[in-house]
Amino acid sequence: MLEIRNLTKTYESPAGPLEVLRGVSFTMERGDGLAITGPSGCGKSTLLQILGTLDVPTSGKINVGKVDPFTLDEKAQARFRNNSVGFVFQDHCLLPQLTVLENLLVPLMVGDEDTMGPERARKLLDEVGLKDRTNHLPAQLSGGEKQRVAVARALVRNPQLLLCDEPTGNLDRVNADAVADLLERARRDHQTTLVVVTHSAEIAARFPRRAHLIDGLLADRA
Ligand code: ADP
Ligand code: MG
Repeated sequence: MLEIRNLTKTYESPAGPLEVLRGVSFTMERGDGLAITGPSGCGKSTLLQILGTLDVPTSGKINVGKVDPFTLDEKAQARFRNNSVGFVFQDHCLLPQLTVLENLLVPLMVGDEDTMGPERARKLLDEVGLKDRTNHLPAQLSGGEKQRVAVARALVRNPQLLLCDEPTGNLDRVNADAVADLLERARRDHQTTLVVVTHSAEIAARFPRRAHLIDGLLADRA
């Protein structure tokens, strides 16, 4: 489902080229769950952004399903991102002036029409345990609740690929565990392919497959 071959990324900087990824390869089947750990600055966010086509690789090959998203033109790539990829970031990135439900409807307003979307949004809020927070504003929620809304929003388009960058980084231990459990449940229930980046070994242990990014290379971990 997801196939990454020899991915490299070099940033140009005034001090010379910075080789962040030096040949990352891995494959995932539909519904697989992978946690990627690694020290700060090792390139975890860079890798995730490339998987989500928010950044381009320097070289290497990516296939999502049967598609190499980097061969698509700009419009088709935006459509791919909207329909096929869900993102959860460390900061929930909810729109403060919109209610919880309205935040979930935002991804449905751009791109392809999705008549089942609003119903799915309500169902997802129920799944993440926030049915009775539907009309709250983000400021009226706890940190853990906001991040649960962000997970529901990432799932509203039924993405093939769910990419999470330090999704529990701002949460205390109890809430971090709850969000990690929620991601795992979502992966199983929706058969989405899940890649979670975290610097926490405890969080990584909650996912079926683990890998470590170091010196620009990704190695599987037990
Ligand atoms: P991580 O998420 O593992 O902490 P990042 O992927 O954010 O690491 O960054 C990896 C390295 O690449 C860091 O040394 C960072 O400073 C550098 N870097 C990230 N983005 C850019 C950029 N746009 N231009 C130049 N260097 C960058
Ligand atoms: Mg990062």
